[in-house]
Amino acid sequence: MKIAIIGAGFGSLAAAFDLSKIKGNQIEIFDTNEFAGGLATGFKEDNWNWSFEEHYHHAFDTDKALKQFLSELGLRDQLVYKRAKSSTLYNGKIHQIDSPLSLLKFKEISFLSRLRTGAVLAFLKILPNGVLLEKFRASKFLPLTMGQESWRVIWEPLFDSKFGRFKNEVNLSWFWARVNPRTAALGYFNGGFKRLADLIVKKLKDAEVKFSFSIKVEQVFKEGNRFTLFLVNRNGVRTSKQYDLVISTLASPVFSKIIDLPELKQEKLVGLGAMTMLLRLRKKLLKDGTYWLNINEKNWPFVAIVEHDNYISSSNYGGESLVYLGRYLETSDPSYQKTAEELLADYRPYLKKIDPQFDQNLIEAKVFKAPFAQPISFVNQSRFLPKFDTSIKNLYWASMQHIYPFDRGINHAIASGRKLAEHVRIKTS
Ligand SMILES: Cc1cc2nc3c(=O)[nH]c(=O)nc-3n(C[C@H](O)[C@H](O)[C@H](O)COP(=O)(O)OP(=O)(O)OC[C@H]3O[C@@H](n4cnc5c(N)ncnc54)[C@H](O)[C@@H]3O)c2cc1C
Repeated sequence: MKIAIIGAGFGSLAAAFDLSKIKGNQIEIFDTNEFAGGLATGFKEDNWNWSFEEHYHHAFDTDKALKQFLSELGLRDQLVYKRAKSSTLYNGKIHQIDSPLSLLKFKEISFLSRLRTGAVLAFLKILPNGVLLEKFRASKFLPLTMGQESWRVIWEPLFDSKFGRFKNEVNLSWFWARVNPRTAALGYFNGGFKRLADLIVKKLKDAEVKFSFSIKVEQVFKEGNRFTLFLVNRNGVRTSKQYDLVISTLASPVFSKIIDLPELKQEKLVGLGAMTMLLRLRKKLLKDGTYWLNINEKNWPFVAIVEHDNYISSSNYGGESLVYLGRYLETSDPSYQKTAEELLADYRPYLKKIDPQFDQNLIEAKVFKAPFAQPISFVNQSRFLPKFDTSIKNLYWASMQHIYPFDRGINHAIASGRKLAEHVRIKTS
């Protein structure tokens, strides 16, 4: 059977890994990018030994599907876990809040609020299935249970900057999915997640899977039992190819540009884009050892500062300090169109509050954009979830919108890609 997979992210690679084991399958994977890895892909400067993700990435110790996949690939020993410090910027001060004890020491809220917050987090940690909570809005449940003070100081600023106008729509299952699998130890693949994607591509090529990079699928069309994919390469050269079965790994707003399907018009399948600024610095921005800094100050233009070299040694990157500034927004927001220079001009006054020497330490600022990076989990979202099957026979779909109540993650993309492969195997056998 001739199979086309659209997208070469981790979901696609995992699906191809399983489908390539079935005799008679001829698989071709298309991606607009030059490399595999999708949202978790990266790049490497000449003076670096390791590649580096365009957007911040780490794994959790609870990422079972990722660990299992790596074991099968013989790469498990290269996913290395270690503790990383998480803190919160509030009232001009950096407060470490990444354990029950550090939460108890957070004096910006009353002791009672700290206890209530800790109790709710402990409940969410032990609750095995968070979908049960989807009928509650996080913005109602959290102030009610943790207290108004905890909501106002710790959580509301994060909901504000992460979800914007959707802040009050997000359900409690989403919050559960952020808290429940989180572990103090974070995992990183030696050499970066792009290296992992490249290694998987090599293994898949050995298994006769074909990769067509720098090629965009412009349209998918079905006539009789055959699909035609209309393709365009970077030079604008157009071609078409035919397949028996097609798998899309694209989020609905992107998928809907290449085919008209009723399930892609579901109004609850919406999300935000991400705009990540990467700073290459001569010296650390966060000098207290914090890897992840939540920004809980009012009106700051980014939601988090992630100092990668407070987690992974800068010796892998020619001694440079690498810092991400994370931000989520609708692609219609005028800021989404801004260049790295324009964004840096907006961000500079805030960065100087963290380090007055920021400008002297800056080597380069880059910006990476992803049009769909943060699905919104509405109340009772499970009723609106997409399925692997589409309304067209032999056209299948697995994306970030299929992994609910989780919203994204390499681990979940792999789990979903492999489930889809099994689904396709059963349907076509
Ligand atoms: C800011 C940010 C931070 C994140 N942090 C983490 C983290 O810490 N840990 C973690 O595990 N995960 C994290 N993620 C999520 C993780 O990267 C994704 O969940 C995962 O990589 C999704 O994989 P996927 O295969 O489902 O889709 P994608 O990675 O989105 O792959 C889809 C692919 O399709 C391609 N494509 C799109 N349109 C076309 C077309 N028309 N023709 C051909 N190809 C096309 C794209 O180029 C892309 O490569 C983060 C994501 C973002 C944006």
